[in-house]
Amino acid sequence: MTDDVKKVAIIGSGPAGHTAALYAARANLQPFMYEGYVVGGSAGGQLTTTTDVENYPGFPEGISGPELMQLFRTQAARFGTEMVGEDVHEVDFSKRPFTIKGDKTEVKAHSVIISTGATAKRMHVPSEEKLWNQGMSACAVCDGALPFFKNQPLMVIGGGDTAVEEATFLTKFGSIVYLVHRRDELRASKIMQKRAFDNEKISMVWNTVLEDAVGDQFVTGARIKNIKTDEVKELEVAGIFYAIGHTPNTQPFKGQLDMDGTGYLIIKPGTQETNVEGVFAAGDVHDYKYRQAVTAAGAGCAAALEAERWLGEQGIA
Ligand code: NDP
Repeated sequence: MTDDVKKVAIIGSGPAGHTAALYAARANLQPFMYEGYVVGGSAGGQLTTTTDVENYPGFPEGISGPELMQLFRTQAARFGTEMVGEDVHEVDFSKRPFTIKGDKTEVKAHSVIISTGATAKRMHVPSEEKLWNQGMSACAVCDGALPFFKNQPLMVIGGGDTAVEEATFLTKFGSIVYLVHRRDELRASKIMQKRAFDNEKISMVWNTVLEDAVGDQFVTGARIKNIKTDEVKELEVAGIFYAIGHTPNTQPFKGQLDMDGTGYLIIKPGTQETNVEGVFAAGDVHDYKYRQAVTAAGAGCAAALEAERWLGEQGIA
């Protein structure tokens, strides 16, 4: 265990974590970051598993997700953020300074910013590994505008608000969007349902599950099964988008921080504060609504500013 107490420990290295680190480092708080390793996909978060990012302002030509996250990391490192490539498995927020245990390292910190993100759920159909990012994606907003989806039939799996939102978004690019749902009624809110039903380019496929994606190098179709009739058929599609929910990466904080039924951290409205004083949250770990790199980065900035102010009030910074 390191014997010094960190002023700020940041858990997670996506856009929220690195922006929090940048602001904390520039405020002379010498942040210590657990970058994460396995949980959440990899260090750098969900953007490292996507291809082109065209909706992060400042990059008019777009930038690849991994490249963008490398730039975030370089900028946070430039101002002195200390980083370790470990996952956090256990924390003790019951007394201050707080304790955080990684794979190998244990640190004590006066304040903590949690930015561990969320992981998009996958179905693990047989061809998923091969065709991931080759027409299969869990983020239509990130990938939908790619040229190979233009004017092509596309498919969204799921029946919640995200599925409807993503299907609606994809109608801007695809020739038709099949919304494939395992039941005969959507879980999405009524207003979102109406949006789906009113959209001529969305074709509902009820009581149906995805059996597999079809294609060698890119998706060319989807094999689907009607679970009421057992009928299996293949639909020609160039893209299959999962919208079956996310799992927030909050396992180590169970029992220590307030969460909703799905496990998203609950923050006080208008702040980044959790229910434990000195512990802040930023990004997809609490935000199931927007889930964008730019909103996560904004929340990371806000969390660092709040941590700085709080440490000042405690006479620590
Ligand atoms: P949800 O958990 O609400 O919906 C997931 C959907 O995926 C459900 O329809 C579910 O089916 C289906 N599903 C889950 N697992 C599988 C599986 N293995 N195979 C096939 N289908 C599956 O997740 P969302 O991401 O849609 O929404 C999460 C939260 O975010 C919600 O509270 C939502 O309201 C909110 N949200 C709000 C938005 C807004 O306000 N604009 C936009 C997007 C999300 P089933 O219905 O049968 O369980």
